[in-house]
Amino acid sequence: MIDFPKTRLKMVEEQIISRGIKDAKLIAAMKKIPRHLFVEEALQNQAYSDHPLPIGEKQTISQPYMVALMTEALLLTGKEKVLEIGTGSGYQTAILAELSEKVFSIERIRPLAIRARKLLYEFGYFNVEIKIFDGTFGWMEESPFDAIIVTAGSPDIPEPLIDQLAMGGRLVIPVGEAFVQDLFRVTKTEDGVKKEDLGGCRFVKLIGKYGWETE
Ligand code: SAM
Repeated sequence: MIDFPKTRLKMVEEQIISRGIKDAKLIAAMKKIPRHLFVEEALQNQAYSDHPLPIGEKQTISQPYMVALMTEALLLTGKEKVLEIGTGSGYQTAILAELSEKVFSIERIRPLAIRARKLLYEFGYFNVEIKIFDGTFGWMEESPFDAIIVTAGSPDIPEPLIDQLAMGGRLVIPVGEAFVQDLFRVTKTEDGVKKEDLGGCRFVKLIGKYGWETE
């Protein structure tokens, strides 16, 4: 029988803190959130391993370090309205819910969205709204957002997401080829858009009008 709380603390020490993640609230959230409950039972013994895992529908829950890196890059203080594209398992959504005021999350695959919504409400994350839609359009009615995170790889930065960023807002998104991308932080400033390359990454495709056309 695996001691999940102990394994989770070890994961945070060895994969998150030791690689330079410093945000204390993020570290606390990763210590608290039971990641193993966001994957199917047969894979729970790998939930704290240093890699992504399948969640069905040919999709994945991201590697814990990638979740931490992307979240830290959003520079959350607790007051933000956040948009997430690619709810997937809902694990990243739970982290965002701990670190911001309100999270709007979009998933294009219905069964994943429904499962994540149920789990997040069971855990008491009532500051989360999940919509089934093509997230490359963003969530116009709820914009502007202080932070936007895209957890799937895109050939380009979807224009609607830049439009829906608040002034000073941050968008974190993997951009590049189908199977390998660079992680970018895009900040909206009075002088235009500032782009920073945070390094290489590997994500499933962002599929939609302003992403990839097909799987
Ligand atoms: N953050 C998730 C987690 O912690 O489980 C991992 C998400 S997985 C790497 C990427 C997700 O993006 C998949 O669930 C996929 O269905 C979703 N996705 C891809 N294109 C999308 C789109 N246009 N709109 C919304 N979701 C999309």
